[in-house]
Amino acid sequence: MKQILVISGKGGTGKTVLTGALAALAPNKVMADCDVDAANLYLLLNPSIREKHPFQSGASAVIDPALCSRCGQCSAACRFDAVSRDFVVNPIACEGCGLCARVCPAGAVTMKENTAGDWFVSETRYGPFVHAKLGLAEENSGKLVAKVRETAGEIAESKAADYVIIDGPPGIGCPVIASLSGVDLAVIVTEPSLSAIHDAERVMDLAKHFEVPVKLVVNKWDINPAVTEDIQKLCDSRHVPLIGQIPFDRVVVESVLAGEPVTERADGSLKEEFIKIWEAVRS
Ligand code: SF4
Ligand code: SF4
Repeated sequence: MKQILVISGKGGTGKTVLTGALAALAPNKVMADCDVDAANLYLLLNPSIREKHPFQSGASAVIDPALCSRCGQCSAACRFDAVSRDFVVNPIACEGCGLCARVCPAGAVTMKENTAGDWFVSETRYGPFVHAKLGLAEENSGKLVAKVRETAGEIAESKAADYVIIDGPPGIGCPVIASLSGVDLAVIVTEPSLSAIHDAERVMDLAKHFEVPVKLVVNKWDINPAVTEDIQKLCDSRHVPLIGQIPFDRVVVESVLAGEPVTERADGSLKEEFIKIWEAVRS
């Protein structure tokens, strides 16, 4: 079983469009959406949710007013000003360090586990799909990414799937690291703009650090052919195969609006380009 991750280094380059196309083209696979902060692969795969699980992450202090003697030791100890004057903890400000519970002489503070979102196991017409939704302003998305990947891997093992196709998060932070480590291939999607190239280079460096082989796809290559040429040169200098150049095409927009992978709607040379990319990924 091979794990293939699609990343971009920057949001809005067409990462999910490509992931949806690979999900439609790859045989015998499980899909995972690790872009848990802004999950949107489900919009293309139309999943039927089979399982929903809460994602527990971190803890917040809760003060029991019946036990509290109002001594003030908790608010004096808290470095985050999370305890109000009337000894109520603000759960947004609370970092869950547990110091207030430790110093409280009355045993009035308990640490309550936080539900930071949900993760789901769904069925789609393309195969099983594991995805998640992180709550508003919640942190620890790297931990949720790890959960999504772990579950997708277990399902793939149990079904003897050949591939896990993963939609990765943007950027190079903790969620990307959690997505990248241990995959067999990272497909970087970029577009012909200087900022996108810069971000693609950063994600190449990250993949190199984790010894993950990379291949690169340029989306909307024809909106700036000169910069696309620069991307080709960059790939040559870094020995990164440039495996596809997707043109700007209204069919891509129409497929997103219709909520389906682009390969369901595209034909001719556009569809052939996506098939060529899948063949290069598979090889
Ligand atoms: S330390 Fe305990 S008893 Fe003292 S104010 Fe805080 S919660 Fe109340
Ligand atoms: S757990 Fe830490 S951050 Fe939260 S209220 Fe207590 S001392 Fe402050």
